[in-house]
Parts: sequence; C-alpha cells; structure tokens
Amino acid sequence: MKCSSRHPLVAALLLLASLVAISHGLHAEATASAVSPSSTVSPNEIRIAKFHDDRTSAVSLTFDDGLRNQNDVAVPFLDQYGLRATFFIIPGRTPETDEEAAKKKPGDWGGISWKRLKELAAKGHEIASHTWMHDALISTTPDGRRVDMEPAKLDEAFSRAYQAIKEKIGVAPFTCATPGNASDDTIRAAVHKYHPVFREHLMERFGDWPPSGKNFTTEQANAIVDRHIDGGTQMVWMIHAVTDGYNAQSGPEVLGNHLKYLKSREDVLWVDTYAAVSRYVMERDAAKLIASSSGNGATFSLQCPLDSKLFNDPLTVVIPAPGAVKAEAKRSGSAAPLPVTIRDGKILVEAAPSSDPVVVSWSGGKS
Ligand SMILES: [Zn+2]
Repeated sequence: MKCSSRHPLVAALLLLASLVAISHGLHAEATASAVSPSSTVSPNEIRIAKFHDDRTSAVSLTFDDGLRNQNDVAVPFLDQYGLRATFFIIPGRTPETDEEAAKKKPGDWGGISWKRLKELAAKGHEIASHTWMHDALISTTPDGRRVDMEPAKLDEAFSRAYQAIKEKIGVAPFTCATPGNASDDTIRAAVHKYHPVFREHLMERFGDWPPSGKNFTTEQANAIVDRHIDGGTQMVWMIHAVTDGYNAQSGPEVLGNHLKYLKSREDVLWVDTYAAVSRYVMERDAAKLIASSSGNGATFSLQCPLDSKLFNDPLTVVIPAPGAVKAEAKRSGSAAPLPVTIRDGKILVEAAPSSDPVVVSWSGGKS
C-alpha cells in the first residue's frame, strides 16, 4: 500500500483501516501494530504460510508395523527421491540385530532391527510408536460384546513403547498410531500422556480395501494427492506392506512411481515426516503474528504459547513485496541471518516462534 501521495484524510483512513484490520486468514492471525505511510507493504498482508515454504499442501508417508519390506523396498525409493517418512514400529516385537530381523517371515511385525531403525532416524526419518506389542486396545467377544483393555495395561502399551524408542533411538517419539486405529476418549488421553500427536485423522489408505486385493495403482494414489493439493489440505498416507504382507501392492513400482510423482509436485507439495508437518501445523495454529512495516522493511514477532523445547521448528512468514530482488532477515540482537527466499513477488522468511522481533529489509520493488 502506497499512501504518501494521497489526500491526508484518505491516508489517515487507510492508516486506521490497517491498524484495526485483523487478518482473517484460515490459521494465522496478523495484528497490525504499526504502519508507516511510506511503507510498501501493509502489515495485514504479512502472514504465516499454511505449510512450510508456502506450499499448498502437505503429505506424510507413514509406514505401520515395522515390516521388513518397508526397509528393503520403500527406503531405497525414499533415498532415491530424497524424501523422509515416518515408521510406526512395535518396540516389544523389534529385534536388536539385522540377523534376528532376517529370521522373521516376510510381512511379519517387527521385521526391522533397532540397529537399522537408528540408521533410518539418522537419515531424518521419524521412528514413532505403534504401541508396545500391537495388542488390540478394543476387542469384541464372539457374542459381539465390546471389551476395552484395562487401564493399567493400556497405559503400559504406550509408556513402554515410548521409553524403548527414547532409549534405543535417542529421540522420544512425537507421534503415535494405535493398532487398527482404535480411538476413543480414554485411548486419546492415554496417547497424549506421552505423545503430542495421535494419528487419527487425515489418513488415506495406500492400498486396496478390503486389503486382500492387489489392484491399487500409482494413478489412484496420485489422484488422491492431487485432490489434497487442489483442496490445500494436509494428508497422511497409511502404508502397510509394500510387497509382502498385509495390504501389499502388486509390485514395488506402485509405491516407487508414486514417490517419483510426489517429488515432481514439490513446488506445491511439502513431503515430510508426520512429526515435522504436525509440529508446523500446531505452531502455525498457536502462534500470533505481530507485524509492522516501514519503507522496504518489515518487523514481526511470532508469539507461541507451546512448549519451545518441543515446538521450535521454523515457520514460514510471507511478506508480499512485488519486485523485491534482494532481502535479508535477522533476529533483533543477532547478527546471524535467517533463511530467506524470494519467489513470485513474495519474501519467505524462516523463523522459529519467539517474541524476539525479526527485522526484514529488501531492495527492489516499489518504494
Ligand atoms: Zn498395525
């Protein structure tokens, strides 16, 4: 907004409008705290991107049950395309060594060793909890009566898995998925005692239903992702067997070609672990953006009430600056520059939530 050449009353009204307007963006709340008449951007237009790097949609690949072919078949594809995934493992059934893992039948639960899981974590994959033994949390008797796991056993299913992953991998599991996706208020509370995130929404099944079919195609998978890109939504692939076992595909290429497709859509699609996307979304929804602007510059802070020990991933802050050619962002009081990208007339700044202001300046564009 350029106000300097306008009638003083118009300028004053515009200034007032800027001051009172609060962004009605879906998730980000931008509060205009100050605007200079000479500023080239209105603080109301500064926003937190819906997803990292201002992508349209986000997808997480989650693999359940620790099946060996996930490591043998899916991981080489993930490496090939540079994608990170989430492995919901069953710690009570996970062997220590690759030799022990090799003794399991193809498609058996816990077919990836702790040694290998640690290597996967070092590559950036997420090792997450699928409960200690994968026992049913809710079962049905032959006469159709529902039986809930008793509370102490339910707590143990989550606590033992949590402790084991924390000790063996060195990173506490951030997310949890339950056997058969069992969920109710009691289970939800038990999950959240240990994990910030419970996978109970947003899932799409990678494979046929019923799971005995092997007709699921890459084209079907791509179409599901396209729908989420069109809708600007987050989705979570729930994947079991790739080649052997429950809900297996007709061949490894079904997943391989889909991952190739995901890679080709990375301009609009953010592919990352379920923990990484969840952290972004939770920070985004909790953070309050307070922005001001002056000339070719803007200052903002991201105040977030979440625990900064768990939630310190950078959010992408978007500043519309048509014509900007060079930009710089620094946390006030720090000389270290923050990551900045200029794309499609917008400056994208990566900044973790903090009440310390970030100062952005740029050259080029209208001034
Ligand atoms: Zn499972």
